[in-house]
Amino acid sequence: MNPDLLRLSAVLGLLALLLILQWRFGYRRDMQLRAMLDNLLLALAGSGLLRLLVPLGTVGAALWAQSQGLGLFPAIGLDGLAAVLTTLLLMDAAIWAQHVAAHRWAWFWRLHRVHHCATRFETTLGLRFHPLEIAVSLVWKVALVLALGLPAAGIALYEVLLALAALWTHADLALPPRIERAVSSVLVTPTWHRVHHSPERECTDSHYGNLLTLWDRLANTRPARLPADPQHMAIGLEYQREDSEQHVWRLLTNPFRSAPTPAQHEETRTDA
Ligand SMILES: [Zn+2]
Ligand SMILES: [Zn+2]
Repeated sequence: MNPDLLRLSAVLGLLALLLILQWRFGYRRDMQLRAMLDNLLLALAGSGLLRLLVPLGTVGAALWAQSQGLGLFPAIGLDGLAAVLTTLLLMDAAIWAQHVAAHRWAWFWRLHRVHHCATRFETTLGLRFHPLEIAVSLVWKVALVLALGLPAAGIALYEVLLALAALWTHADLALPPRIERAVSSVLVTPTWHRVHHSPERECTDSHYGNLLTLWDRLANTRPARLPADPQHMAIGLEYQREDSEQHVWRLLTNPFRSAPTPAQHEETRTDA
């Protein structure tokens, strides 16, 4: 089966399931259909741009690199299952590092704040990224695929897992406390990622992980104090809270507007 079609089917299937679970068990049952639609439209704009930039995607890049014998993995003879598992680990660390950069570099934060200015934590937020942020991520991923000669199967699997994790980790749901503790010792959960959407700067600039919590534990990018009640805390940024900011056109043009200058928030991001 075509890997793109497989990923799309998996994403739509999980999205439908999580929407039902949120509606039934979510903390905020009042679904804001307009906000969800805006998130979906932004995702569509992003995938359109992606198609134009790299029509065959990261998997196509991996197949091409393989046909040319490019990259580190073939050079050191790393292949088979070991290569696939190493790809999953390396890509998760690389996307974690990209996320840290998105919070530290001023220009990158302008793109990434489109994800953070959402005032609702629910599954479609996992699709809400500015098309230019998706493009930057794509360039980073393709560079890694070519430099390392990552196997197509490994990168295809990582892309599916990343897309599914984005939906799951933004769901307005929580695991029972004991299960949450066990699962989040390894994997990112909605409660773990929700902290990242707190308006408190110390929390916003923490918990960058996508699949594994390992990278945040190793780099100690965790807040000194967790929110007392993450399920009911405020979501979003202290600035850009207006409903009008959430519409798709405002989201697309957001990076090109200066935010109503928030105290320290922008200034402490560097001009790398
Ligand atoms: Zn972030
Ligand atoms: Zn998020």
